[in-house]
Amino acid sequence: MNNNKIYLSLACMSGEEQKYIQQAFDTNWVVPLGPNVDGFEKDLEQYIGQNKHIVALSSGTAAIHLALLQLGVGVGDEVICQSFTFAASANPIKYLGANPVFIDSETDTWNMSPEYLKKAIKDRIERTGKTPKVIIPVHLYGMPAKMDEILEIAQKYNIPMVEDAAEALGSTYRGQKCGTFGEFACLSFNGNKMITTSGGGALVCSTNEQKKKTMFYATQARDNAPHYQHSEIGYNYRMSNICAGIGRGQMTVLDKYIARRREIHEIYKVLLTSFKGVSVFDNPNKDFQSNHWLTCVLVEPEIAGFTREDLRLAMEAANIETRPLWKPMHLQPVFADAPFYGDGTSESLFDKGLCLPSSPVLSQENLERVVDVFVSLSKK
Ligand SMILES: *Cc1c(COP(=O)(O)O)cnc(C)c1O
Repeated sequence: MNNNKIYLSLACMSGEEQKYIQQAFDTNWVVPLGPNVDGFEKDLEQYIGQNKHIVALSSGTAAIHLALLQLGVGVGDEVICQSFTFAASANPIKYLGANPVFIDSETDTWNMSPEYLKKAIKDRIERTGKTPKVIIPVHLYGMPAKMDEILEIAQKYNIPMVEDAAEALGSTYRGQKCGTFGEFACLSFNGNKMITTSGGGALVCSTNEQKKKTMFYATQARDNAPHYQHSEIGYNYRMSNICAGIGRGQMTVLDKYIARRREIHEIYKVLLTSFKGVSVFDNPNKDFQSNHWLTCVLVEPEIAGFTREDLRLAMEAANIETRPLWKPMHLQPVFADAPFYGDGTSESLFDKGLCLPSSPVLSQENLERVVDVFVSLSKK
């Protein structure tokens, strides 16, 4: 049996990328902006639907930053954010001098709890006299958050929503694609996401006005003048024509990759059913169709006879890369002062959860190598 390293999530090229990059070189368009950027944005708009307007940017983090900026988030404001996520969901709040308020997860989707969201909004209004400016739910590991409930609360209090769909390209909630529910949504094309542009992201906007404004801020906020004139602070956040060329190639295989990641998830589910105390995270019901970016398991140590950390170390010894679930933001030293509303759900997920290798290129043989590690631990 081979002992090659098995990675958590690898970028996989389709072969088409070279064609678009070559075109950029042939036309000497090796600069920010250009035909690949326009083409990639059109591909994404078509894919995501709902008449959204998309701007390709240098990262998903930049997308969240420009969304919050356009929603008027500023110094001293409060922004509500899911606690169970990657730091990139929350950091842009601080870039703008605002403060995050973290919300715990519920156990069905592992995403923002509508119950604690409601409690938090009421309590923040009571304590500060101000309504939080924005709500940032996340579709973590590709699993759609409970959009109907969250949107209903957001609308009741008239708070705009910025969806963090960085991990959820292609996931659907009640048949509608993640990234189309909020006023804005961010996508990410970093190295190990559903598709990659080597590094990059996009902001999904609801109107063409927002798209234009996003482009304005992403290219140093240049006023309309023949010379360089600026009335506002801008950013250098646009995607390059080369990166967008990779993105166009990746779009040709996106559906195939999603199908394969879902298939890998199904295989894990079947192969891991017999292990007591180990459960594979799955869609709670048909309304939720995750892209299964990463397949995750929870280990109940008393039943399984081993802990999440035992499992991670055994995987490491077998040359298999796994990763604990995201450490919640309210437990991060950098956000120690931020208010938190919850009951410990995300903390418990962090203690018990592990992400398993889920690359589209993962072979059956390597999938079985991962499962063999569970077998070796259960025998002990
Ligand atoms: C990757 C990621 C981001 C940020 O995307 P970058 O393109 O890496 O800046 C934001 N939120 C979540 C949940 C992510 O996983």
